[in-house]
Amino acid sequence: MKQVNQVENGAKFLADTAHWRSHDKCLWAARMRRDQVAQNIPEWEEMRLLASDIKRHTLSNLDYYLEEFERNAIANGIHVHWAIDAEEHNQIVYDIFKAHNVKVVTKGKSMLMDECGMREFMGERGIEIFEADLGERIQQLSNERASHIVMPAIHKLRGDVAKLFAKHMGSDPKNDDPHYLNGVMRKDMRKNYVKVDAGMSGANFGIAETGGIVVCTNEGNADISANVPPLYVVSMGIEKLIPRASDVPLFVRLLSRSALGFHVTQYTSHYHGPREGQEMHIVIVDNGRADRLATPGYSEVLKCIRCSACLNTCPVFRRTGGLSYDAPYMGPIGIVLEPSYDLHRYAQLPYACTHCGSCANVCPVHVPIPSLVFRWRDIVVEKGEDQLAHRLEMDVSEKVLKTEYRLVWAEKFALAALRHMPKGLANSKLNPWATEHSNPEPPQQTFREYYQQEQKDKNVSDNQTT
Ligand code: SF4
Repeated sequence: MKQVNQVENGAKFLADTAHWRSHDKCLWAARMRRDQVAQNIPEWEEMRLLASDIKRHTLSNLDYYLEEFERNAIANGIHVHWAIDAEEHNQIVYDIFKAHNVKVVTKGKSMLMDECGMREFMGERGIEIFEADLGERIQQLSNERASHIVMPAIHKLRGDVAKLFAKHMGSDPKNDDPHYLNGVMRKDMRKNYVKVDAGMSGANFGIAETGGIVVCTNEGNADISANVPPLYVVSMGIEKLIPRASDVPLFVRLLSRSALGFHVTQYTSHYHGPREGQEMHIVIVDNGRADRLATPGYSEVLKCIRCSACLNTCPVFRRTGGLSYDAPYMGPIGIVLEPSYDLHRYAQLPYACTHCGSCANVCPVHVPIPSLVFRWRDIVVEKGEDQLAHRLEMDVSEKVLKTEYRLVWAEKFALAALRHMPKGLANSKLNPWATEHSNPEPPQQTFREYYQQEQKDKNVSDNQTT
């Protein structure tokens, strides 16, 4: 399969100034809100450390907690299934639907189901799925994947949504008022809710001690899926477990504040079994997670609670948009997660990083994204999946940096080239950096020459004083 070229995809997004500026502004606003609410909690940093420790402990004893969860869930009247990979997950869900003659499904937002390609799988088998999350539904109607973990359509402008709804629901294409657009969607979805045979959702947390799950949403979309239909199916990755019910408040406090800078999500729903007359299933999915857990130096990636704080703060993500990653997971967490699904296809993603380190500063569970980026770059080079131009760059750099003599001459050469290069060339389209910046005047001497001269002058002046 062709490699994803994030640079090329991102350049297309950047070419549309209105879209990238709005995207950048919205995400930076979420990042700023996150900082403000975090600063109001004196124990914020202790909370992050504690959450990281709880996740690490759970992952180190995952077999124990998974069995405990399964036991308690079954005791609560839930049917528990195990899926080794995406295919098995989809097949299990399909078999459940087939047994209940399900034709129409409503689904809350779930990254895992996107990862498994579940909607497409069901579509091919004649099962219609309606996304209940507004952003996800917008993306479904656009025939696009989510561009952000918690704000799936954040790359779109209100005008884009107005046109989309007009095309699919006959609304006014010129009215981009959010209340109006919400109303259009609500009216349309209500028709669908009454005819659904089953509901689906993901899970933010699975509690081993109680065998129940917690789902956090801002629109109640999981609650519609869980409460309205007679059949409710949950998909949950094995890494979603936390040991005790008393751990939930810590994670809920961290999640919403890190995601959008809000004190709490609008709906934090706990499901501990089917309601009366309903059937409830949980499909527990591996899909490569056990391998990630068993890989030294990589297991920490499983601590991720999918809050998206790292996306909101990432300068690359904010300017290039989530669709440029062409993957279910995007942004900083995506570039260290996706290569583990398909190294060839996602080999360029670990290079979509400026090494600012901001993702590590905001992650509520201390996923060490910057060091995982380096780890993946090593693997990409080792496996020969790196770009030829990049390999040549590295080979030349290695030769130059190996001896001081070569470096000194490289510095002199680079400065001479900068000083004598025609100005128009440095500021031409060949240098994309120059489109938003002005180049400074090159200095008369290299920094090394300047520093040596300074030291010499200082020694002369010191000798004269003594
Ligand atoms: S890596 Fe950390 S900041 Fe990024 S989505 Fe996961 S938990 Fe949130």
